[in-house]
Amino acid sequence: MFFKDIPGQQAVKKRLINSVNEARISHAQLFLGPEGSGSLALALAYAQYISCLEKLPDDSCGKCSSCTKYQKLIHPDLHFSYPFISKGSAETAVNYIKEWRNAIAENPFMGIEQWMEYLDAENKQPNINIAECHAIIQKLVLKSFEAEYKIILIWLPEYLGAAGNSLLKLIEEPPAKTLFILIAENYEQILATILSRTQLIKIPKLADEELKAYLIDNGCPQEKAGRIAYLANGNIAAAQQLLAEDDDDLESLFIQWFRLCYGRKGVEINDWIEQVANARFGRENQKSLLRFGLQVVRDCLMVNLDQTSIIKFESKHFELNKLANTINFENAPLIIKGFEQAVYHIERNANPKIMFLDLSIQMMRNLQLKNVNSQLTINE
Ligand SMILES: [Zn+2]
Repeated sequence: MFFKDIPGQQAVKKRLINSVNEARISHAQLFLGPEGSGSLALALAYAQYISCLEKLPDDSCGKCSSCTKYQKLIHPDLHFSYPFISKGSAETAVNYIKEWRNAIAENPFMGIEQWMEYLDAENKQPNINIAECHAIIQKLVLKSFEAEYKIILIWLPEYLGAAGNSLLKLIEEPPAKTLFILIAENYEQILATILSRTQLIKIPKLADEELKAYLIDNGCPQEKAGRIAYLANGNIAAAQQLLAEDDDDLESLFIQWFRLCYGRKGVEINDWIEQVANARFGRENQKSLLRFGLQVVRDCLMVNLDQTSIIKFESKHFELNKLANTINFENAPLIIKGFEQAVYHIERNANPKIMFLDLSIQMMRNLQLKNVNSQLTINE
């Protein structure tokens, strides 16, 4: 993995590269960034750079014997740990290394859901078990084979559970020339004992502009890139999914729901919920759907304010003017608040069926609200 293939994150890249060139590499680092921010890819690029034999000022050479092995993720001094579904208590991450290499080769920006699809996990809960912790300890007592540093990447240490405590001593005092890089998404879910022993590297979510530029570089037309960047909300994996799936579907799906709620069609709303509230549709799509909804409601208000020049979406699927008739200054704040809360709940693993049912009931009620004050009053 090269730094140059990762969108945005200039400040983080610079900090990591400097730490190598100034020989200030901390032995235990925690890369903390939201899903799709590129944190795993950054950790891989960083590890490859540390081990590269012919470093360039701002990236690995890509040609030396170390880089060649790194690019296939087969370097003997590079180790991985990640959540998996263990079929027995003795299984460790290495049982799934082939799937892991394939998954990263295909998408180094993947999130846990995409990884679980690779493992055909269905609804089973992944974890990093005690056998895997013991395997990590065993790997690290060996000396490195070829490189100066032995590097272990632990992806999503949130899944370590109490088993992680067996690693503490190693993280605190690793053998010489051993680096721990932990790549996490949720600060609150990591063992406090691990947090206190690692150097924190914060990785922000990508800015819309950075994500847009990345999509355009990858051949996406400008207008579509802007729309997808907005919907993906800084998540590279979500943007890729939207790109692959034809995001027009998301628009039609949202408009269909909007109309069903307006018509108070309970049975059809239930069918609609069945379509979106399942693992196949996925959390990222559910969030994108709601973000699209937020933009539609805001655009409807702009229509009502005669500010059509700043409308974000020009859709072929619907006429904004018609929808705008049902959105007013009474119901818009309630609808927006409902959508924002729903995104919040999805991120915290709420049951999507209950969540969308609740949201549909709110929406039916809110769309019946009439505007009491036809004038928008400011400073009140
Ligand atoms: Zn190299």
